[in-house]
Amino acid sequence: MDSILVVVAHPDDESLGAGGTIRKHGDLGIPVDVHCMTGNEIRNEEMKEACGILGVRNLFLSDRDDFAIDPSLRNEVVGAILKTRPTIVITHFSGDYNINHQQCAQIVFDAVEWASHTTIFDDAHRVQRIYNMEINNLISRPHVYVDITDTYKYGLGALKKHKSQIMKADFFYEKLYDTRTRLRGAQAKCDRAEAFTITQPEHAGPFYRENSVERLI
Ligand SMILES: [Zn+2]
Repeated sequence: MDSILVVVAHPDDESLGAGGTIRKHGDLGIPVDVHCMTGNEIRNEEMKEACGILGVRNLFLSDRDDFAIDPSLRNEVVGAILKTRPTIVITHFSGDYNINHQQCAQIVFDAVEWASHTTIFDDAHRVQRIYNMEINNLISRPHVYVDITDTYKYGLGALKKHKSQIMKADFFYEKLYDTRTRLRGAQAKCDRAEAFTITQPEHAGPFYRENSVERLI
């Protein structure tokens, strides 16, 4: 059965980058799980409320303050992949200005590769595609837009649950989410949309039969 795993650096990234998309897929009967790499007591409570509004199935939280880059971060994402067995993974895009978002995108790419090794894991899993979302700065050339006209209100409602963040910079995040989804909607010929690039994952090195095809089309 298809499902989606969303992996983000901070609580609020899920709502700001893909809130409408998350809720839309849940409404369509496609379960969405969220793994967040950092958090604390206050922000994790806000995250639980936000993910409730977005209809998230499983929420995997952390109490890691900042990114301390070590293999355990990748292993945590591998664990979420093996547990939820997603068809696709949504995460940050590597061109994001925020260093944690860049790191998260790389860790997810590595985790997707590692989780596919049947020589390492009895329950190895191959993610089909990675979708990279935008947060505070725009993807210059998106590959795909998701029409979130009907679920924007849930994305905004979820964003507002991140009370410790939402007041910052004169409600910048709310204004940005409003404006950006309208811009993407204009590009996608709908009211509101969220934009993504698509990354083709690498799978398990060069020595697996599953990486071979009989023909290209
Ligand atoms: Zn963030």
